[in-house]
Amino acid sequence: MAIVSVQRTEKYGAPDVRASIDLHFEALGIENDLRPGMTVTIKPNLLAARHPEQATTTHPAVIGAVASWLRDRGIDRITVADSPGGVYSQGNLKAVYESGGYNALKDIAELNLDTGYQSVKCPEGFVSTGFNIINPVLKADYIINIAKLKTHGLTTVTGGVKNLFGVIPGLQKPEWHFKYPNIDDFSRMLIELALVVRPQVTLIDAVETMEGNGPLNGKPRHLGLTFCSRDIFAQDYYASKLMGIEPEAAPILRQALKMGLFLSDKITVTGFGAAPADPPYQLPESISRNNSHSFLARSASALITRIYCAVPKIDTEKCKGCGKCAESCPMKIITIHNKTAGMSTKKCISCFCCQEMCPFDAVKISHRWRLPRI
Ligand code: SF4
Ligand code: SF4
Repeated sequence: MAIVSVQRTEKYGAPDVRASIDLHFEALGIENDLRPGMTVTIKPNLLAARHPEQATTTHPAVIGAVASWLRDRGIDRITVADSPGGVYSQGNLKAVYESGGYNALKDIAELNLDTGYQSVKCPEGFVSTGFNIINPVLKADYIINIAKLKTHGLTTVTGGVKNLFGVIPGLQKPEWHFKYPNIDDFSRMLIELALVVRPQVTLIDAVETMEGNGPLNGKPRHLGLTFCSRDIFAQDYYASKLMGIEPEAAPILRQALKMGLFLSDKITVTGFGAAPADPPYQLPESISRNNSHSFLARSASALITRIYCAVPKIDTEKCKGCGKCAESCPMKIITIHNKTAGMSTKKCISCFCCQEMCPFDAVKISHRWRLPRI
């Protein structure tokens, strides 16, 4: 039986968040895991250099509350580590810490600047052979994964599992999109990565969340909750339900269910009994909503989605020619001319990395007919 702890956390004031963390960790018995001298790595969502109120990144108040909880129990080797989108460099990390309000955490946790990584082999039976994973995650005795709840242009929802894609160094992430252009294969890879990293506990910051064109250019939406679980899949399932998004419509959860990684009827929710969001979360433009329980309706919708597919389109009025989209495109089909991006979408795999990384919301979505990829 998977336990998901939910707490009403109305705002990011230090006492409110800390009270929720105390209750979460008590409910899950996290204190029993701790050993003197252990190294703890906290893995937030630091997708890009954004301010906390933009609801893109894990709020520093949540990281601060977890770090202070650990310090109160004698754990002082605490590192905060993520590999944001773009180049994995000290300069990029410093920019993300600065914008995200993380510099205020320097007294209670180390903000990682080590840009090294090592490769780890996958166990037998995995489709992926191995992953390159950033050093502070590999060196940790204990990993606390702290995600941000958002809609996502490729995976529909991003929670605990998708957050772990950030352990792959910088521009190696688009290489995985290139390798697995099919969303179900890509989702399976993300699941295998989560099984390799295996965080001991995952929290989801859902105080301020994002809907619409997430994970970067959506609209903030207040939910006023935090989640915590040792079961990363069951927790994402429950969070998706609360967003009003059928978990089976989210490819990671669909794959996890198929792989038997959790049982949807064996989830115990403890703490606050939240009702599903009303109205349901607005989906990204790249995703069509089909929450139908009818197999036929689902299958028809899946087929139409395969042949009438969403592709990106540059809004030339908004584009500043910064090149972030071109840097992240796995198919290398974006070029910058006269300070404006242009793309040849024939080879586009609709991964939406360009939209995800555009700091100026200049990548829009259009639809076109095409033959399904086999
Ligand atoms: S589309 Fe966005 S990311 Fe690409 S060059 Fe223009 S502003 Fe930069
Ligand atoms: S153009 Fe955008 S959606 Fe298409 S492959 Fe490149 S990054 Fe992915």
